[in-house]
Formats: sequence, structure tokens, C-alpha cells
Amino acid sequence: MSETTEARVLRVLRQYAEHLNPGWVRGFKFLGVETLEVEASGAIIRDAYGRDYLDFACGPAVFIVGHRHPRVVEAARRELDRMPLSVRIMPNESMGELAELLAEVTPGDLQYVFFCNSGAEANEGALKLARAATGRPGVVATIGAFHGKTLGALSVSGREQYRTPFAPLLPGVVHVPFGDAAALAAALTPQTGAVILEPIQGENGVVVPPDGYLRAVRALCDRAGALLILDEVQTGMGRTGTMWACEREGAVPDILTASKGLGGGIAPVGAFIARPHLWTTLTQHPYMHTTTFGNRLGWAASIATIRVIQEEGLLPRATAIGDRLMAGLRTAAAASPGVVTGVRGRGCLVGVEFADPDVAFLVLAGMVQRRVLAFHGINRPEVIRFAPPLVATDAQVDRAVTAFSEALVEAQGLLGEMAAAAEARTTT
Ligand code: PLP
Repeated sequence: MSETTEARVLRVLRQYAEHLNPGWVRGFKFLGVETLEVEASGAIIRDAYGRDYLDFACGPAVFIVGHRHPRVVEAARRELDRMPLSVRIMPNESMGELAELLAEVTPGDLQYVFFCNSGAEANEGALKLARAATGRPGVVATIGAFHGKTLGALSVSGREQYRTPFAPLLPGVVHVPFGDAAALAAALTPQTGAVILEPIQGENGVVVPPDGYLRAVRALCDRAGALLILDEVQTGMGRTGTMWACEREGAVPDILTASKGLGGGIAPVGAFIARPHLWTTLTQHPYMHTTTFGNRLGWAASIATIRVIQEEGLLPRATAIGDRLMAGLRTAAAASPGVVTGVRGRGCLVGVEFADPDVAFLVLAGMVQRRVLAFHGINRPEVIRFAPPLVATDAQVDRAVTAFSEALVEAQGLLGEMAAAAEARTTT
């Protein structure tokens, strides 16, 4: 007899609990996703019970052109059928073409690219390059930042809870408040080799800095002789309405890191790209910084993804989606004063901040019941992050807003009932 869907789900949850992490299983239960993701297309994910979910989380802001965009799938399939991984001792067309294309679509004179497999790896490489190029060990990072969880990337990330068990981390790193150019200026010393920050802090709950911040940071770095590393892992590839978020201020970094959307939702691809004079160490010693896998399939997907973003008008679409989404969320939030403390973002990167993280979680769970997915930033559980794909329709945006609005009302009702029950217990 074939296994029922319930039995399949239970088997997988047991495997997760016994061999991956029981904490994840608790999370699935709280959120109400005791099911299996099975297939996906565009902004829709289908589960093992055949139910469709609207994906406005996009994983952690990954699926920039939606799930399995046909042009991206086609490009990846071509490499799958020919040679998905590079042998590394011969050149290949996908890697060359993607490097040239990235140099073309990134600002200023960013020119040389190193490909890797994740955002953390991209930031590790950028930090190493900055050290080698400047000979200075110091790094200034920002409080609340998220740059990944390998040791180097964690050292410049800014949530103590994730850092403390792994101390001591990289020496010479100081953290300053994000968005505060004066604090950054005060932290720069002759030993500072690099400043690393996100143009908008994604995992810290979509924190948008004041206008002019990136330009001021650029000027401060120039004055101090420090390199500016902009982590566009989350904000890049069109998510905020320009191909890279730094374009909005015309601030050109010395090193830019990318990942997430870069693989087009088909494969993990990371990259750091730098100005040519910084590449000297890697040019003199071409095997100074290396990685095993040459992901031809992913690079082909990346090329197709950039073309899709450019040719299907997805940059203005990101802005239109974000404006419609934020307007809807603000209207919904206004009906619950004091519960939601802010709606902010740019393009398809939107955060809704709650006074109480438990309410944020209840709202997320209520949205899941209505088959709409969003998630909180990893460093700020009180902020729900919406990261819809740039191919979302207006109707899908409206569906997400309705789900949020209903879940918010329901969460408040639930909390009211719990408070009443608690009061009844104390008075009897
Ligand atoms: N940098 C930023 C801005 C991110 O948002 C993330 C992941 O959320 C990373 C780096 C780390 O990327 P990965 O998880 O692929 O290592």
C-alpha cells in the first residue's frame, strides 16, 4: 500500500527531528507548516497536500524572478545537459560571460569577480581581499548587521546572541550604529582596512538609513584610506528597484558582494567584485583564494536572471510592487494602532515592525493559515519581512495584504482572549 500524505509528512518530520534539528521541527509546528514543499512556479509554492501558498518570503529573499522562471530554467538546463560543473583547469563560457556582465551592471569601475557559493563566502573573500590590499587588519561594521555565519562573516555581523558562543571572533572589528555617519567617522583609525555594511539592513528588520548615508560613508572611507565593502547579498539583483541599492546614492564601493538572487532561484551562486587595483594579490598568486566548485549551471542561471531583470522591466516593477504592498500594509496597520510600530522598505524589501515579537509570530502563523508566506528577519524577530519576487502580480500583492490584515485582527483577538483568561485566573 502506498504511503499516505500524512505518513510522508510525519516520516520527514521524524527525520528532521532525529537527524537535522528538533528545534526546526518545533518552528514548523508553531508556524503551522507541518507539510512538505513539493513544487513551485512564479510566486506560488505547492505543498504535499496540493495546497498553493503565495511566496512573499522567497526563502530568505532569494527567488528574485520567482520560482523556476522559464528563461532561467532553460539556461540552467542547457548547462545541465552539457556540463553543469566546471573542471576548473579549462576555461568555460558561462564563467567568462557572467564576470563580464557583472562588471557591466555593477557601478563604477568594479571589474574583477570571484565566484563562490553563498553570501557568507562572498563576504569572507571580500574581507580577505581588503586585508591583503591595505595591509590593515581593522574593520568597522554596523550593529544589527547580517553578513553570514562563517567565522569571518560572523565577526562583522551584529547580533550578540549569534556571536557569543563562538568567541573570540576576528580581532580588530568594531561595531557602530547603522545609519550614523558621525559614529563611523569616530571609529575609523589608521588601522582600519575596511568598512563593511549593507545599503539597507535586511535581516535586522529592513532598516533603511537616512538619505546621503552611503555617500557620507564613501567620503569617510576615502579620507581614512579604508576600503568600502557593500554587502548587496540581499539588496542586490534589483530587489530594491535598482540593480544594486547603492546606485540610488551614486555611492560606488571598492568591493561589492552578491548572492541570494544572483543564482536566479535555481542554484546557489555568490560573488565578490572589486576595483582592478585591489586584485593585485590575487593576480600575483592566482591560487591565493580558491573554492572547489565551478557552478556552470548556476552561472548560466545568473546570466539569464540578469537578462530577465533587464528585459522584462523588473526594476520599475520592484518599485511598483513595493509601493502597493507598503500602502496596503500601512492601511492595515493603521487599524491596529500601537501594535504595528512601523512599515518601511524599498522596492521588494519591506519590513513591518511590531511592538511585541510574539504578535509578529502570531501574525506570521495566521498568514500561513491563509496560505501566504512571509518571515521575520533573523536578527529582529519583531519585524516581519516581505520579500516578494519581482514577478508578483498586483492581485498577488493584494492577496498578501488581505492575509496580513486578517491575521493581524485575529492575533489581536487571540491576545485579548488570553489576557482576559489570565485576568479571570487571578481574580478567582
Ligand atoms: N549578507 C546578507 C546581507 C544577508 O542577508 C545574508 C543572508 O541572509 C548573508 C550575507 C549570508 O548569506 P548566506 O546565508 O548565503 O551565507
